[in-house]
Amino acid sequence: MVSQPATVTLAEAAVDELKSRVRGDLIQPGDAGYEEARKVYNGMIDRHPALIVRCVDVADVISAVNFAREQGLTLAVRGGGHNGPGLGTCDDGVVIDLARMKGIRVDPAAKTVRVDGGCTWGEVDHATHPFGLATPSGFVSTTGVGGLTLGGGIGYLSPIYGLTIDNLLSVDMVLADGSFVTANADEHPDLFWAVRGGGGNFGVVTSFKFRLHPVSTVYGGPIFWPLDQLPELMAFWRDYIQSAPADINGWFGVVTVPPAPIFPEQFHLRKMCVIVWCDVGPLDQAAERFSAIRAFGAPAIDAAGPIPWPALQSLFDALFPSGLQWYWKADFFNELSDQTIALHKKYAEQLPTPFSTMHLYPINRAVHQVGADETAFGFRDANFAEVIVAVDPDPANNPRMIQWAKDYWLALHPYSAGGGYINMIMDEGEDQVKAAYRDNYARLARVKATYDPSNLFRVNQNIKPVG
Ligand SMILES: Cc1cc2nc3c(=O)[nH]c(=O)nc-3n(C[C@H](O)[C@H](O)[C@H](O)COP(=O)(O)OP(=O)(O)OC[C@H]3O[C@@H](n4cnc5c(N)ncnc54)[C@H](O)[C@@H]3O)c2cc1C
Repeated sequence: MVSQPATVTLAEAAVDELKSRVRGDLIQPGDAGYEEARKVYNGMIDRHPALIVRCVDVADVISAVNFAREQGLTLAVRGGGHNGPGLGTCDDGVVIDLARMKGIRVDPAAKTVRVDGGCTWGEVDHATHPFGLATPSGFVSTTGVGGLTLGGGIGYLSPIYGLTIDNLLSVDMVLADGSFVTANADEHPDLFWAVRGGGGNFGVVTSFKFRLHPVSTVYGGPIFWPLDQLPELMAFWRDYIQSAPADINGWFGVVTVPPAPIFPEQFHLRKMCVIVWCDVGPLDQAAERFSAIRAFGAPAIDAAGPIPWPALQSLFDALFPSGLQWYWKADFFNELSDQTIALHKKYAEQLPTPFSTMHLYPINRAVHQVGADETAFGFRDANFAEVIVAVDPDPANNPRMIQWAKDYWLALHPYSAGGGYINMIMDEGEDQVKAAYRDNYARLARVKATYDPSNLFRVNQNIKPVG
């Protein structure tokens, strides 16, 4: 997506007034650092905001929200900047960039952590690990806490301790009118329901409070099998993961083995199946418990073993650096029939670039223990979240890899539960947003009408206010 340099001219006096109120940085086109500051994770996104406000505290956020509203400007909010369609930035408007809001406070006695809106998951893991504690997050530690949490949060610990939102206890927020509220089970419960899955539609979350669990050194990591074993392996994994011990999870991927020294050379650049495991149970029993998994058949590469939680969380960070071209499609599945497994094999054989991949994440067990209407997340009954990811450094490969992702998704979609994880889709329009929220959409639209009736927060997977 190519955009032109910012065309909006901001009222100088208003910007000066904002500058006098804000302790963080104001960055405009032409300023040193603007080119760097406007970048987001996905190299396909090339937007030119008229003003980037790097907030350092809640007061800054209030001033920036008021400025955007009063000046009638488009407003985008950026947490970690990882959003696929680039919904953490915009053309010609104001970007509230939370990247300088990094405070984290662990309460080991209460087993909770308070996290500022600009943190990444790696920063949270760093803070909680010394206490032998963690909260469910994702699979890549550079992802922002903000966007991942507000969309639901699927990760290693989902079937064990629930989605990230199932561990969210409270949020502090700046609303569209500039007011500041706390939302939790007792205060603004309607808002608290909506932010647990409803994305950035309702305001800027300046602080999240999460429940922590005893997670320290786990038994985990990737085990690879040859691609021609995909049908039997996926069927084995599908059955195993439905009734796995409560503290074991493993997601299934089709990948190209990177030419990195940690992998045996004969497998470099080979397309393979991988299951990436995480067992939070007793370490001294893990190898024995994994014998059931290894009994499936000799793996090509077996890299599972004891690993500190932050290391597992950041295992794939270097493989997916910022700035790559990134396009993805998502779906949910209740079951994986033999027919769908055959289709996975067909499209895995056609992985278009070495970075491109398909993942199936289990969202069963603990995720199913929360009712469909208890949070805004729309697919509590699904067992698997699928994401097909087309990635490459070279934009010249975009048409080919995007076509592969679309074809793969279209072939599987008739067998799906519908919808698609809101955090793993592109900007696919209102129908796709409605499909992601299913029966929860109407309630989300009413909450939106209460807290953001003029749709100031619309640079997101947008829910239109309906009173
Ligand atoms: C490499 C990679 C790995 C990923 N792995 C996982 C995974 O394992 N599990 C998973 O569930 N998802 C995963 N995702 C998807 C991720 O959840 C989304 O891309 C999410 O949007 C990223 O959040 P962010 O804060 O980094 O992004 P941003 O681009 O900063 O923000 C995304 C959206 O959230 C809003 N937002 C962000 N922070 C706030 C805030 N504090 N207050 C209000 N609104 C806010 C933004 O306005 C925007 O609409 C991954 C993404 C990438 C690129």
